[in-house]
Amino acid sequence: MQLPSTTDILIVGAGPAGLALATELRRRKVEALLIDKQAEGANTSRAAVVHARTLEVLEPLGIVPQMLEDGVVIPIFRARDRDRALLEVDFRHLETQTRYAFTLMCPQNRTEAILLARLKALGGGVSRPLELTGFRADSERVDAQIKAPDGIHRLRAKWLVGCDGAHSFVRDNSGINFEGGAYEQGFVLADVRMDWPLSRGEVSLFFSPAGLVVVAPLPDDQFRIVATVDDPPEKPDIAYVQGIIDVRGPTKGERRIREVVWGSRFRIQHRVVATFRSGRVLLCGDAAHVHSPAGGQGMNTGIQDAIAVAEPLIRALTNGDAEGLDAWSERRREIAKSVVSLTDRMTRAATLKSWPAELLRNAAISLIGHLPGMPDRIARQLAELDNR
Ligand SMILES: Cc1cc2nc3c(=O)[nH]c(=O)nc-3n(C[C@H](O)[C@H](O)[C@H](O)COP(=O)(O)OP(=O)(O)OC[C@H]3O[C@@H](n4cnc5c(N)ncnc54)[C@H](O)[C@@H]3O)c2cc1C
Repeated sequence: MQLPSTTDILIVGAGPAGLALATELRRRKVEALLIDKQAEGANTSRAAVVHARTLEVLEPLGIVPQMLEDGVVIPIFRARDRDRALLEVDFRHLETQTRYAFTLMCPQNRTEAILLARLKALGGGVSRPLELTGFRADSERVDAQIKAPDGIHRLRAKWLVGCDGAHSFVRDNSGINFEGGAYEQGFVLADVRMDWPLSRGEVSLFFSPAGLVVVAPLPDDQFRIVATVDDPPEKPDIAYVQGIIDVRGPTKGERRIREVVWGSRFRIQHRVVATFRSGRVLLCGDAAHVHSPAGGQGMNTGIQDAIAVAEPLIRALTNGDAEGLDAWSERRREIAKSVVSLTDRMTRAATLKSWPAELLRNAAISLIGHLPGMPDRIARQLAELDNR
């Protein structure tokens, strides 16, 4: 396998964060080596929510029109107690603040394919399967050990960026603390085709005594269903998902699951790294922060970490000025902590298990919906516009 023996920037992990960084660097005429240990990219839908701030930071890459074409534009998030609407968050009210006054539902494999196509159009690509299996960093360089199908290669880089996901090898081998904890609650996720009585223009969040279920429209006439459950099955089938909708969703109108296109389950943690930078090692995306999927913030925050690091990284490379990287690390950590805190509040509210507490919660959500300006503040926070 042909591998260079040196590179300025080694990016480990070609998920959304690594792809976004490699593409942004290429756009700015800076080459990086992007490697991934998987022989092929993942082809499942996973993170499907793309928020306004992410579209803004991706704009210079010229891929937003394609994302808009492939996704579904959703103007409204509505919290419900079965048939009763409790709170409406209308992203259209952000139209004086952003060009993207909506949420886009676009499956992660589509977003990754669009980023990769742009990276290739700019002359780049992903080198795979190549696994980072060891590295040593000092103040001048990083010496990396990479496992390839034909054996072990050694490579010297000026900077190493770990975009290698929640179980990050780069993070764990840099001695950077990953502070936080785990939730007891499990989640089940299913992309389905179904008869559904509510508008395809809204994401519905049903707060019920049995737990939360979120129903969000996806492209190809599909819906994403995510629910909190104690013991999620590995592959939810039609009957399982139907049971959740019957007990937690609307009581009126046709709501029949016809097909489960893809299903999965996951357990989650809430953690943020102590720093995004340790010398010549940087972290972006899930490698630096993991949290509840509430509000669909995960992939968005990771892509924004990656786009934001490009400028200070190029400066560090060209004139040795690494101060911008420390400022980036501090700012991204602040943002990650506020995302963890927001998603934690939402998750704890959604998973209350006592009847009086649920009544109080639903009353509080309804009250928030009537406080002047409050739904628009929530829209702004979910859209991550405060991260500018
Ligand atoms: C089933 C499921 C459902 C999800 N649903 C949602 C959702 O609804 N909403 C949401 O916001 N988020 C969701 N997520 C999380 C979302 O997918 C992540 O936030 C997102 O993928 C993080 O992107 P990333 O680029 O940081 O890391 P990843 O996408 O995890 O990419 C990391 C990459 O690094 C590679 N890698 C790892 N170690 C090495 C190594 N040593 N050498 C080389 N390569 C390496 C991996 O192969 C991988 O391709 C879901 C995740 C899963 C698994």
